[in-house]
Order: sequence, then structure tokens, then C-alpha cells
Amino acid sequence: MNYNKITPAVMDAVSHIVQGNVFTQQEDLICFSYDALNQKYYPEAVAFARTAEEVSLLLKLANTHLFPVIPRGSGSGFTGGSVPVMGGLVLCLTRMNQILTIDTDNLVAEVEPGVITGEFQKEVEKRGLFYPPDPASLKFSTLGGNVAECAGGPRCLKYGVTKDYVLGLEVVLPNGDIIQTGAKTMKSVVGYDLTSFLVGSEGTLGVITKMYLKLLPLPETRKTMQAIFPSMDNAARTVSEIIRSKIIPSTLEFLDQAAIRCVEEYLKMGLPIHAEALLIIEVDGNREVVDKDAEKIEALCLQGGADTVMTAKTEEEAEGLWKVRRSISASLLKLNPHKINEDITVPRSRVPDIIRKIVEIAKKYNLINVNFGHAGDGNIHTNFMIDRNNRDELARAEQAVSEIFQATVAFGGTISGEHGIGIAKAPYLSLEIGDKGIEVIKRIKKAFDPNYILNPNKIVT
Ligand SMILES: Cc1cc2nc3c(=O)[nH]c(=O)nc-3n(C[C@H](O)[C@H](O)[C@H](O)COP(=O)(O)OP(=O)(O)OC[C@H]3O[C@@H](n4cnc5c(N)ncnc54)[C@H](O)[C@@H]3O)c2cc1C
Repeated sequence: MNYNKITPAVMDAVSHIVQGNVFTQQEDLICFSYDALNQKYYPEAVAFARTAEEVSLLLKLANTHLFPVIPRGSGSGFTGGSVPVMGGLVLCLTRMNQILTIDTDNLVAEVEPGVITGEFQKEVEKRGLFYPPDPASLKFSTLGGNVAECAGGPRCLKYGVTKDYVLGLEVVLPNGDIIQTGAKTMKSVVGYDLTSFLVGSEGTLGVITKMYLKLLPLPETRKTMQAIFPSMDNAARTVSEIIRSKIIPSTLEFLDQAAIRCVEEYLKMGLPIHAEALLIIEVDGNREVVDKDAEKIEALCLQGGADTVMTAKTEEEAEGLWKVRRSISASLLKLNPHKINEDITVPRSRVPDIIRKIVEIAKKYNLINVNFGHAGDGNIHTNFMIDRNNRDELARAEQAVSEIFQATVAFGGTISGEHGIGIAKAPYLSLEIGDKGIEVIKRIKKAFDPNYILNPNKIVT
């Protein structure tokens, strides 16, 4: 596809549509040239829309003058989804950041896409309500970005992922038409389920300008535990045992030995560096049930071979346990300046198999590897800590990732549990969905966006 550069006359039209809320200076553009994948492509301009009508006019202009438009929230994506690989206009939604209503009778919120996830959670919790999807980026990611990526997080084991909370959307299609999908109601089966279709579409099929999100009552209480296992196999078996005993914790996170060592080096809090696995487990709900479940889990961990199980007695102690999990990302960068971070997911029972395979592959390619993640739902964040300037190391890491993806699919898993495809995983898509699957995606993209102006070269090239 050949795109046109945005001429000064077209730039004036862009600026007119968004009432001057546009950046064109190099020093501003640099901030919108990358996301958490850390690959840089410069846009020609960045526009901040405030209404669906402005978004619609921009997309109509893009179709007339054939320039790419790339929707963007906070730019915290791990797969390059908001990066302007073909240049063009970055369309930033962060100024559409109003929580329009929180309907406590119907447990539905109506929100704009630029609302920060954690801010939204605080607002609903003030009313005794609960929005469970909790990506670790919740302090800075937007709800629009979460919906476009179908973000997950630790609580997804019990509560599901973002798609389970999206009742309906207002979306501007690539041709500028504004449509509504779904409804504010808990049920709606009118026509194709376009809401599900657009959730996780990574800004390639439409720009989300409003969302109807489902809310739950806030659980009465929660308990947080930490269990230390000398053996990873025993830890994984215990995870299965907990679920088999018909307890679904709200979170069930794990750190492997390398992750434990990194965090200990970083925080110096006396973590057991010889342990092969550390589990952080949280249960929530009614006080009586929570107490009973916590007791049962403690017993299962000890029977399963845990050396120690600690239950937090206060909020501060619980925060201390979570600090271990939240510090991993920062602690890893002490090992090497760059990380290749994948989010493969396998059936829960295959976690020990895939971990063994990853360790074997890391050894084969002589790479520093650290694993942690959501043991309860089989979602493993496997990280290769490298120096990207070392071309040989980078090539070895890319080869290792390719082999891990192949093993993941062979174990019945998926190459992305929550970060999406973007540009980072596009080369591996056929591994999982095959060439015919890719053909379907291409046909859908063409039907929505015949001029390929919306977020081109993402998911499929
Ligand atoms: C430290 C850290 C921790 C993270 N932890 C998690 C985690 O636990 N779970 C998880 O799932 N992810 C996690 N992520 C990844 C990331 O935060 C999520 O993918 C998040 O949903 C992206 O939101 P954003 O607002 O930053 O979107 P962006 O990165 O700006 O955009 C992401 C994608 O959504 C599209 N998009 C954005 N807004 C819109 C819109 N309004 N309409 C249409 N398309 C749009 C973009 O084009 C792009 O393709 C983490 C990232 C970091 C840096």
C-alpha cells in the first residue's frame, strides 16, 4: 500500500478538526514513536481528539488523502500496537477521559476510552462496586487500550479478562461511520456479536470512543498468602490441586528461581534464593468463605511440599507480599539493559512441562531467562534479558522465542495470553492460526478498511 505524506494543507485540516490539539514538532513526536516494545517509528503528527465526531472527520480525511491513522492510549502495549510503522497520524485518545456514568442500579458504567484503568477502579470502589480486570499497568494504561488489547491481569483467574466486562461500544469505523455495538444491558443478541469482534482487534478495525462496562459488587474481604516451594514441579502440582479442590483464588501468581533471585537482589527482603518457586495466592469474597478457603489452601500448599506458607494479617503485610510480584519488572533490568518479554499461555497442567522446555531452550542458546506470571491460568511471562546492541545475542534470543512458541502451540497453548500480536508477534501468527486463518483476518480487515488507513501492518502485514 502506498500512502501519501500529510501535506501542509491536510495538516491544517487535521488541526482544524481537533481545534489545534495537534503536535508536529520533532521533540513532541518522539514521545509517540514507541511503546513498551521499544521499537521507534516516527509519526508525521499527533492529534488529540475529544469527540467521536472529531475522530470520524479525521478518518474521512485519511481516506480522502490516503494517510495512516494509528489509535493510541498510553502507549504501554508490549507488542508495538500503537507504533506508527508506516508514518502518518497518531490519534491519541487520552483527552477523551470522562467517566460519564456509574449506574449503581444496573451495575454498568459508561466511559470514554482515555480513562486510566486504576482511576476508574478507584471511582467504582468508592461506590462499593468492582471492575476486576487488573493489568499490572493499571496506573497508566487506558480503558480503551485495555479493550483494544483485551488486557488480562492476576485477577483474571477468577474474574475473567477485559472482554468479559464489555457490554457494548461506540466505535468509529475506518470510513468514519459511527456505530453502536451491544447494549447497556446484561443480555443482547441482536445481529452478529460485533462487540466481541472489536474487543482485542488492536485498533485495526475501528476507533473505540465509548464503552459500556459491566461492574460487580466489591468483595467483602480478601486474604493474601505466600508459599515457598523447593521444587517447581510440586508448586505446579499444588496449583492444580487447589483448583481441583474447587477453590478459585482471585489470583495465583508464581515466580521461578531466577525471578526470586532478581527480586531479592533488588529489594533485599530475605527471600529464599534456593527455592525453585514462590506462589502468591489471594482469595476474596465473603469473610467466612475467605477464611475457610485460605485455611484449605495453606494445608494444600504444605501437603504439596511447600517449605513455608505465610498469610498476611494486615493490609500492609498483604502489600508487602504483592511488592515482590510488582518489583519483578524493575529488578530484571539489573541483569541486562533490554528484555524480550513473551506472554505465552498453556493449559494449567502443562505449566511444569513448558517451564522445563523454556529452561532447556535458554540453556541451548546461552541466554539469561526469567519466568513469572499467572500460574492459575497458565499464562507465563518468559523473559530473555539481553543487550540489543549485541547482535549475536539478539539473534539467539529470537531463535529461542521461536522455539518456545512452537513448544507452546504443541502443548495446546497460545502465543499470547494478553499482550496481543501487534508487530512483535505478527511473524509467528501462522504457527497458531495457520495460513487459512491469516487469510480470514486479511479478508475481515479489507471489509472494514478497504484503503488500509487504520493502524496498518499490525497483526498481519
Ligand atoms: C509494566 C507493564 C505491565 C503490563 N502488565 C500487563 C498485564 O498485566 N496484562 C496485560 O494484559 N497487559 C499488560 N501490559 C501491556 C499494556 O499495558 C496493555 O496492553 C494495555 O491494555 C495497553 O493500554 P494503553 O492505553 O497503553 O494502549 P496503547 O499501548 O496505547 O495501545 C494498545 C493497542 O490498542 C489500540 N488502541 C488504543 N486505544 C484505542 C482506542 N480507543 N480504540 C481503538 N484502538 C485503540 C492501539 O492502536 C494499540 O494497538 C503491561 C505493560 C507494561 C508496560
